[in-house]
Amino acid sequence: MPLKIYNTLSREKEIFTPLTPDHVGMYVCGPTVYSDVHLGNCRTFISFDIIYRYLVYLGYKVRYVRNITDAGHLEGDRDEGDDKFSKLARLQKVEPMEIVQKYTLGFHHVMQLLNNLPPSIEPTATGHIAEQIEITKQILANGYAYEVNGTVYFDVEKYNTELPYGILTNRKMEDLLEGTRELGGQDEKRGRLDFALWIKAKPEHLMQWPSPWGMGFPGWHIECSAMSEKYLGKKFDIHGGGMDLAATHHTNEIAQSQACYHTSPANFWMHTNMLTVNGTRMSKSLGNGFLPEELFTGNHPLLEKAYAPMTVRFFMLQTHYRSTLDFSNEALQASEKGLKRLWDAYEILQKLTATNVAATDTELDAKVNKLVGEFDEFMNDDFNTAKVLGSMFELVPVINSIKDGLIRIDAISSSTMVLLQQKFKAYLEDVFGLKNDTVKHEPLNGVMELLIEIRKESKLKKDFATSDKIRNQLAAIGINLKDEKGGDMSWDII
Ligand code: AMP
Ligand code: ZN
Repeated sequence: MPLKIYNTLSREKEIFTPLTPDHVGMYVCGPTVYSDVHLGNCRTFISFDIIYRYLVYLGYKVRYVRNITDAGHLEGDRDEGDDKFSKLARLQKVEPMEIVQKYTLGFHHVMQLLNNLPPSIEPTATGHIAEQIEITKQILANGYAYEVNGTVYFDVEKYNTELPYGILTNRKMEDLLEGTRELGGQDEKRGRLDFALWIKAKPEHLMQWPSPWGMGFPGWHIECSAMSEKYLGKKFDIHGGGMDLAATHHTNEIAQSQACYHTSPANFWMHTNMLTVNGTRMSKSLGNGFLPEELFTGNHPLLEKAYAPMTVRFFMLQTHYRSTLDFSNEALQASEKGLKRLWDAYEILQKLTATNVAATDTELDAKVNKLVGEFDEFMNDDFNTAKVLGSMFELVPVINSIKDGLIRIDAISSSTMVLLQQKFKAYLEDVFGLKNDTVKHEPLNGVMELLIEIRKESKLKKDFATSDKIRNQLAAIGINLKDEKGGDMSWDII
């Protein structure tokens, strides 16, 4: 069965054929680095990491471009307000690039902990100002934009007379207009859906560049058009991001590419569904975001315990990327148990050796072959990691029974055994990117509980020398022990 991918553009699963045989160009909208990434962002980046890994597993040479948004994000969603980087830099009395550096490093650290592979290219908006100016000039020259007082707007209504603006989310202009505010007398825009390609900077604005329209900075959407074209060409295979980006950011990217190059940028548009908390989307603006660090240390009032990065990754894999996933302690604890069960079986499996050529239990042999065959089958069906894990879990009792002597090792043929071992390894480690870190994390939790108990006891006995020694020596190795209200203590890794 060939690989089929659900394409947001056609609203169907389509057979995936790359534009250049054996090569895939994939662009994913990356983080906006004015704050820490939350677990919702991580879900999207894990989903695309799995997609990237699977394409590589299939033998494609993949150029995976994921950008860093480090300029041009405004507070308001109507090209109004201050740029978030400049605002934060002013508040904290630092350079905007210090904000960018801090959160980019934090993002990379989290991606590494979650075992996401780095993209092939990670371009930044501030590193591609010239390219963004060039596209803006071309869109103006082609007649799809206009300039007012140093700001350049995309003319959505004019564009829509020639091509359907709402094509990605299958919405008509009337419906799109319904959701937007009327233009006021102060507005420079001609149409309510028009968006800025280039924005005039106020003198106090900290990030601004010279342009043919005066000092300014790029609008948010233009960076992805400029950087995807630079590294993947005018037309490439896959463009992805979270579902929340489809209606505006990606819709505008398509319009910009059409207006500039007369082509839609990507063949396949892929959108990951949202991570929710009690049914509400996890987001920076709503403030309901859990930070990965909080999960890894358990340091959050709503968390019952700490969860290892691989537990979090596994939790994400248990749901298909196009379904919503609700965050809860129960679900994470179930994932922790599930991953341990799977990993234990995997370690047993790698130590088994079957020497017989023919299977003595042909029915079981056929069952094992069928389940193993399903790994590729389900991944080829729009990357259904949840179903692959279902097949893997059906194989766990077989592996455990061989270990316990309930099933004889010669029940399955040696070739089936080798296939089972190879596929388990390829899937768990290479495609799903899992590592055995739960084992390492669990004892640390236990050791910390023990040290906290000893410290509480020493405090009760007024043995402050011991209680201080525990706190200071932990601090020296990078563990911060905090005294909470009511004599409780918590810890995190500095
Ligand atoms: P941002 O840094 O807000 O631009 O988001 C980075 C990526 O995370 C984008 O692709 C978003 O669509 C995605 N994203 C944001 N919130 C969530 C969420 N709750 N669940 C899954 N993905 C999300
Ligand atoms: Zn983007």
